[in-house]
Amino acid sequence: MNRRDFMKLAGAITVATTGGYTLTELMKMEPLELLVKEAEAATIPMARMNAFAKECVKRSRYVIGYPNNQNINTKDFYKWYVESGLCNIHMNNVGNPWKPSGALINSHEFEREVIEYFAPFFGFKKGEYWGIVTHSGTDGNMHGMYFGVKYLQAKTKQLPIVYVSEEAHYSIKRLADVMNLELKLIPTLPMGQMDVSAFEKALDPTKPALIVIAIGTTFKGAIDDHPKIAEIVNKVKPMAVYTMYDAALFGGFLPFTKYRDIVNREKMNFDSIAVSGHKFFGFDEPLGLFITTMEVFNNQNPFKVNYLNDAVPTITCSRSALGALKFWWHLVKNGEKEYKRQAEHILSVAQYLKKRLDEMNYPAWLNPMSNTVFFKRPSDWIMKKWDLAPEYDERLGGPLAHDVIMQHETEKTVDKFIADLKKDLKK
Ligand SMILES: *Cc1c(COP(=O)(O)O)cnc(C)c1O
Repeated sequence: MNRRDFMKLAGAITVATTGGYTLTELMKMEPLELLVKEAEAATIPMARMNAFAKECVKRSRYVIGYPNNQNINTKDFYKWYVESGLCNIHMNNVGNPWKPSGALINSHEFEREVIEYFAPFFGFKKGEYWGIVTHSGTDGNMHGMYFGVKYLQAKTKQLPIVYVSEEAHYSIKRLADVMNLELKLIPTLPMGQMDVSAFEKALDPTKPALIVIAIGTTFKGAIDDHPKIAEIVNKVKPMAVYTMYDAALFGGFLPFTKYRDIVNREKMNFDSIAVSGHKFFGFDEPLGLFITTMEVFNNQNPFKVNYLNDAVPTITCSRSALGALKFWWHLVKNGEKEYKRQAEHILSVAQYLKKRLDEMNYPAWLNPMSNTVFFKRPSDWIMKKWDLAPEYDERLGGPLAHDVIMQHETEKTVDKFIADLKKDLKK
């Protein structure tokens, strides 16, 4: 179709659907202008959209069952995003942000600065790491596992066995399935940590080992005992080892607490880490961080072909330039002091909830360094009202639920929740 025919067709469609412009008027407009006019003429059902938004905003005050910070303030960012005109162009962070190609309009410069800001908090030294702003925690785990497989293949020419606890996030199991890897699910202790003696029995010295350490399991907020796991690894000596941290939620706040060494690779010796952006930090949509060592990054081809440096290392092609900009804005605006304050807040409210439940003799548990209180599952109306996630564990008496304390939950929220629980017990 040539341009003239296209304009005619677009004009005809606009006339047919809106009746707002005559064909002669439309033909005089530039093609782009014409399409914009067409979009403006479309009728958005605002009553429906506003009802939807109102409901979501209201509900956000009652969600305590999922690890998402609902104290989000992106107004200033979006104001700039709209006023600067960026909202009307396409940007794309495709490729390696550390080797910009300039092929597309992107925010690689800001993406690098986000990684440069967080890398030292996880014990990565300047010049010794590589990382990206990811789509999500799962995206980070995907890069972590894939990079691990390639790294171990480069060392051993063999595929690794994946070791992960039964209570680790399902994305690890899903990704092992996608990558067709042998997976050894290690049983857990009742509080959710990997059972290290079961790990010792499962660890195969004749194969490379890809070990996934849960830094905060999804339901119980359990942190695997990496030092003990490392002792077993040193004893059994698999032919090669790669260790990744799934720190989707806890990786956001631990660096800003006295427990910071838990996620410091100089102390803990892990090879990569994945963190969600929309959990602790708080964004209006999913985001994440992935950081690994240059040693891993430089061994991504099993046969060490030099041209690899020029290849695109990421699995996903297009990546969000908006996400990297938003993350950068967030860390400049908040910074370490504010992150520390928020980390202290969630841990202290978790202690408070545990105390209130203990006072009632209500069966409840809280792991060390955790913001996740889990307890006997209450009635359905409470589960619904507070958006609680269910779980089942025979070892802890059966049906469970949890409250993942995020920044929008305060002691006042806890008091309201406890009041509901007391009402429920009286029934
Ligand atoms: C939430 C979570 C994930 C998945 O992260 P997404 O950002 O939702 O993809 C992975 N692992 C753990 C431990 C989590 O808590």
